[in-house]
Amino acid sequence: MVKYKEKLEEQKVFIDGEWTTASKGDTYSIINPSTGKTFVKCQKCDAEDAKKAIDAARDAFDNGPWPEMSIEEKTKIFYKVSAMIEEDTWEICQLDASCNGVPVSHHNSTVMNMSPNFEYACEQAKELAKPDTTEKEYAMGMETMVVREPDGVVTIITPWNVPFWQMALKLPSALISGNTVVFKPASQAPLSGLEVAKMFEKAGLPKGALNVITGPGPVVGAEMAKSDKVDHIAFTGETVTGKEIVRNAAGNLKKVTLELGGKSPNIIFDDLSTDEAAEMATLGVALANGEECFAGTRVLVQETIYEEVCKKTAEIYGSLKVGNAISAETTVGPLVTEEQMNKVLGYIESGKEEGATLLCGGNRLQEGELKDGFFVAPTVFSDVSNDMKIAREEIFGPVISMIPFSTEEEAIEIANDTIYGLAGGVMTNDREKGIRVARKIKAGNIFLNEWHVLACDMPFGGYKQSGWGRMVGNKGVEEFMQIKSIYPDWEGIGSSIMKNLLLSGGDTE
Ligand code: NAD
Repeated sequence: MVKYKEKLEEQKVFIDGEWTTASKGDTYSIINPSTGKTFVKCQKCDAEDAKKAIDAARDAFDNGPWPEMSIEEKTKIFYKVSAMIEEDTWEICQLDASCNGVPVSHHNSTVMNMSPNFEYACEQAKELAKPDTTEKEYAMGMETMVVREPDGVVTIITPWNVPFWQMALKLPSALISGNTVVFKPASQAPLSGLEVAKMFEKAGLPKGALNVITGPGPVVGAEMAKSDKVDHIAFTGETVTGKEIVRNAAGNLKKVTLELGGKSPNIIFDDLSTDEAAEMATLGVALANGEECFAGTRVLVQETIYEEVCKKTAEIYGSLKVGNAISAETTVGPLVTEEQMNKVLGYIESGKEEGATLLCGGNRLQEGELKDGFFVAPTVFSDVSNDMKIAREEIFGPVISMIPFSTEEEAIEIANDTIYGLAGGVMTNDREKGIRVARKIKAGNIFLNEWHVLACDMPFGGYKQSGWGRMVGNKGVEEFMQIKSIYPDWEGIGSSIMKNLLLSGGDTE
């Protein structure tokens, strides 16, 4: 395990069981967004390196021991990795925080839940390894079997916002089901992904079963989507990139699963006190500097309490502790890159131009220790209408857009007026209304009087342009498997019926 230091040694990539460099010798630097200083150099792989990693995974699937190993042997390796994650949780969080600027305590809240996730995937895989032999009503009395088999070679591509969590939502399910994997973490935050490869290597995973490479998405990721040697690509990232993945994957019609962007509505009814309402408005975006796919960035507040809640939300959000992501006291860190900071500041300008009222923040912070980092002050806009850019597009930064509504019907209409459908929230003490509204929001994950509690036994994914398929939950492992129906006709029942129908002129008497 690499331990956090202000500057780390150059990182390698893991291909076919070897730690190696990019074939052309290219590297790129990651800047620590809290300090603006170079933190670490990583390998800048290209399409040839991606091909090598895919070939290794292909060979490990077609000829290697991993797909054929018993589920007991596989789970032994997984339990070792799970124990290592538990032991190294804080180190993993420090590495991710230094790359992406998300506060170390926020990483901790996600990483510490990921060790059970590995174990949960093992339990599911054990169940799925058993053939389903129940008699089928319409199968002419045959003792049918339904078996599940791995897809083959799976490529996994993840974003930078909560790198370890993003990996852990896909990799355990993909690997435990017997697939072999090429994993590309985001270029901005690949360190925890490289550490996972070391853990699997130490735990005894056969060579080639897991390959981890780093490099530009449009080059390395594109090859992972295009290659005919790949059977399934599992992607998390922007909707626009997801569409590119689909186009590139069409060549061999590989399976595609997608977890994409969001612009989630957080509907707050007036039976909450204004203090509670303001807390829930803030909570929805509090994780990961607002750089979270399921953040509740469109806060819809009932008009009877709207003004007061906007004011109090600005007071709470505006007073959170902004600082170096590596400090345990920080609740808002810097944005991942200078480019992302400028993008967020651009959205703030557009909010002002379109007539929203800026209640707090709205600017870069550069005082004291924040001087060279990419910090944006926590920002709250009121008087936002749902047709403004700040209400329609994913900002991915610490910005809350507050929109008033009068009736339940109007709230639902505004909530669903978006291309996305990843998440939504309903804040009310009225249970019946809460469930009724939750059912009406067209999104895959609904938070009722909470935000951000996610569980590995609950499916995660989106409606509309937020994605295809579900990760984790009771079908999480099955998502990485093919289902095969076997018709064993030991008694000759089916064949005599079919012979009679098809070979004897269809005599049915
Ligand atoms: P991104 O789409 O730019 O990049 C994601 C990954 O794709 C990175 O590893 C990148 O290198 C790679 N990539 C880029 N171009 C590619 C291409 N042409 N082909 C293949 N791979 C390519 O997204 P990002 O900026 O890293 O992350 C932020 C986005 O991710 C937001 O839209 C956010 O909502 C989304 N996200 C979604 C979920 C979810 O579960 N639905 C979770 C986290 C983040």
